[in-house]
Amino acid sequence: MAESFPLDAFALDDLGALPLLESLTSGAMVCDAAGQVLYVNPVLRQLLGSPSLPTVTRLNDWIQPLPKVDCAFCLGLPDGEPTPLHSGFLRSAAQPAQPEALKVKIKHSPLDHGSVLTLIDPFSEDTTLTQAHSDFVSTVSHEFRTPLTSIKGFADTLLRYGGQLPDEEKRRFISIIKDQADRLIRLVENLLAASRLSAGRVELSYRPIPLKKLLEKTVESVRAKIMAQQSTVPPRMFHLSVHPESIEVWADVDKLEQVFINLLDNAAKYSPEGTLVTVRAEFLPEDDTQVRIVVQDQGPGIPAELLPKIFTQFYRVESPLKQQVEGTGLGLYITQSLTTAMGGRISAESTPGQGSSFTVIFPAATPERQAMYQRRLSASEVER
Ligand code: ADP
Repeated sequence: MAESFPLDAFALDDLGALPLLESLTSGAMVCDAAGQVLYVNPVLRQLLGSPSLPTVTRLNDWIQPLPKVDCAFCLGLPDGEPTPLHSGFLRSAAQPAQPEALKVKIKHSPLDHGSVLTLIDPFSEDTTLTQAHSDFVSTVSHEFRTPLTSIKGFADTLLRYGGQLPDEEKRRFISIIKDQADRLIRLVENLLAASRLSAGRVELSYRPIPLKKLLEKTVESVRAKIMAQQSTVPPRMFHLSVHPESIEVWADVDKLEQVFINLLDNAAKYSPEGTLVTVRAEFLPEDDTQVRIVVQDQGPGIPAELLPKIFTQFYRVESPLKQQVEGTGLGLYITQSLTTAMGGRISAESTPGQGSSFTVIFPAATPERQAMYQRRLSASEVER
């Protein structure tokens, strides 16, 4: 019980409400009509970071509505009516200098005697998940709708007017339909890959991979994709350097290729035409059992505070490019998950306006790693 509260001023027990409020999983506060605090339940005391509060205290000492919310009760106005449901900030008793420490949902309900019960819940992980879920639905619906609308439109036109169209025009329409179907397949594959990775279902088959050959192949396929999409504009230029050329990485070849495709694809699609994408691979100077590959572009860059977010599922930086460039916010999540699953690590650096650089570090294919892998494989075959 909060001994320091003048509970006798408010007959909570008479209402039979006290046991209920004491056991609530939400924070709860009861105030008189003037906003004077009469009772604070244990959960709210914990949220406030203080086992006891000054005896004479007012609701607006602890709660602040969000700037656009004009709850007169929370603002402490005389005879102020409460806005039933709104958001706000809860001050921390432990850190009064941080008035906006905790964002909360606030629900006011009138009680007898003109007093008001206020329930307070922090914006929880669940709220974030709901937001992520609704962002997911809207991103994915948009990503599906765009190619589907285009496929339907061009197929309709071919059906209705195909007989009257020149062959060249018909071929152009069919190739648009195919490109858009490919886009849908990529989207579905990305969604499936992300869901497999989230569930920890990824099968890896390790072997030594000659890095130069794989990077050359990846650059070629990203270049071909850009050429196919924008045959009339100068494509981005790629510069590849692998030192020494014989570097081999210890990884799963398909997953490693996917990592490079995603990084190169982003570098190309978020950078203006005619700019340079550089790919550099070398052993770490201090450790030749690790290989570092850096993909650097001259694109718009990413603000420093958003860098940690770009590796989360469905996150896309808010900018005009978000509308112009095809994407779901899954590529870097998949890239990071695959990289760490193969014992590597990934990081990003960026200077807005000048470009971004993504660094991945993978184990080199040392004889020790290969021998250990062979021993493990043989052991698991014996067990079977
Ligand atoms: P998307 O499918 O949107 O490209 P990613 O997960 O690959 O998804 O990337 C997440 C977001 O990070 C992108 O939407 C973009 O805003 C930003 N981003 C990724 N790579 C780059 C880059 N090279 N330059 C600028 N922004 C980038």
